[in-house]
Amino acid sequence: MRNLTHFISGKHVQGSSGRYGAVYDPMTGETQAKAPLASTAEMRAAIDSAAAAFPGWAAENPQKRARVMFRFKQLVEDNMDQLAELLSREHGKVIADSKGDIQRGLEVIEFACGIPHLTKGEFTEGAGPGIDMYSMRQPLGVCAGITPFNFPAMIPMWMFGIAIACGNTFICKPSEKDPSVPLRLAELMQQAGLPDGVLNVVIGDKEAVDTILTDPRIQAVSFVGATATAQYIYATAAANGKRVQAMGGAKNHMIIMPDADMNQVSDALIGAAYGSAGERCMAISVAVPVGKATGDALIAALRPRVEALKVGLSTDAEADYGPMVTAEQLEKVKSYIDIGVKEGAKLLVDGRGFKLQGYENGFYIGGCLFDNVTPNMRIYREEIFGPVLCVSRADDFEAALRLPTEHQYGNGVSIFTRDGDAAREFASRVQVGMVGINVPIPVPLAYHSFGGWKRSAFGGANQHGTEGVKFYTKIKTVTARWPAVGVRSGTDFTIPTMK
Ligand code: NAD
Repeated sequence: MRNLTHFISGKHVQGSSGRYGAVYDPMTGETQAKAPLASTAEMRAAIDSAAAAFPGWAAENPQKRARVMFRFKQLVEDNMDQLAELLSREHGKVIADSKGDIQRGLEVIEFACGIPHLTKGEFTEGAGPGIDMYSMRQPLGVCAGITPFNFPAMIPMWMFGIAIACGNTFICKPSEKDPSVPLRLAELMQQAGLPDGVLNVVIGDKEAVDTILTDPRIQAVSFVGATATAQYIYATAAANGKRVQAMGGAKNHMIIMPDADMNQVSDALIGAAYGSAGERCMAISVAVPVGKATGDALIAALRPRVEALKVGLSTDAEADYGPMVTAEQLEKVKSYIDIGVKEGAKLLVDGRGFKLQGYENGFYIGGCLFDNVTPNMRIYREEIFGPVLCVSRADDFEAALRLPTEHQYGNGVSIFTRDGDAAREFASRVQVGMVGINVPIPVPLAYHSFGGWKRSAFGGANQHGTEGVKFYTKIKTVTARWPAVGVRSGTDFTIPTMK
């Protein structure tokens, strides 16, 4: 069994807390590695290293920082196949999807290559008599990112890519369920020329996280994970005076209008609901057909496709999706199917009994499809995070719009229609942070920014894009006057104004 290490100050460091988490092979159900869970002292050592590296890295000119990002991008591309395999073997998603996870992170690195331009300040010549005014964006210091299991490449890169390009130093606390890819990314950053201590990866659980949240040297905390954790991180980090962006869970709806092309809808929905076994914060988990005929047509199109889903090994190029990340996650999903049946939803396809031949102990589940799901049911209100699609029928556009608008989560939503008027009205009125029009998973590209509303995100700042640059920098504004020698402007006891 592999013994994983932390990556602190450019070196692999053995865990010394005596506590470990298990990293499973979701395909077989076996434990494949031991992940050390950092103690407060170990986390503090990483913070020491990041704090010591900060002045040098912050003073590096932005073009040099960008060049590290360029080299890192190339190294990740060169290592794509190995990284994707490592990712699939710990997470369970299929190889092509792991490549997508890595590629989405790399797109943020590409964006970060433009950091000299992105951190340029503003300048006003002659803001007053003989007065110039300018602003600059400066790094914050040591920043930390706490990341979930479901995107072990993309989400760490969302965070450290921007933070480090801006001149900060960084501690990544990845999910203890699949930490090998973030560790490998840190090695590649070092190979790309990043000085030791600028990026540290420390594996851990609540003890490590609480150290991040309370240590006064940490200036900003980025978090992505479940809502209960996000709310705790937000409240605790903010109470300790830190900047926080904390993204949480989701329940993403797809509205299907009567004029939508049902082939396009079912193609889009099957991938968005069941890809990565539904373990995506932007997965579609609720389909909302408008009108009875649309609902019946949707079920007729979808049901055989859900029954025919090919669940297989993560390394099987033919598989639609692979196993879930852990047995615990699998049991949680199965328990929600039981709950839905008890609540009176109609279970049309039941994947609970699925077993992959030869891999009976792997964490597999077949696709599940519920019809007649209503907003009072737990399977509607709560995030399941598995290959389970709930169909909640709506009578008309207004009723369909109310569902995502009134839901506790507001991460993503999408509408399928041929009617530009309905689409425009929907995009304008729906209370959700990311909207797709005839696009099932509207994840914004790296130069836009990612973030949900309501209980899907706490704190004001989105991830990446110019929002990310703002989050990881502080603005300083200088007002400068250089009067000629001997010129006096007198004394004024009132607040300076532009007269
Ligand atoms: P999680 O909240 O269990 O864990 C996320 C991170 O927080 C991990 O690093 C974990 O070690 C740490 N953590 C867990 N419990 C903690 C506690 N009590 N105190 C301190 N730290 C703790 O989430 P997960 O299961 O890894 O990820 C799945 C969740 O993430 C889903 O809810 C999904 O919707 C959400 N997610 C959201 C987004 C988004 O951008 N909104 C993106 C991806 C995933």
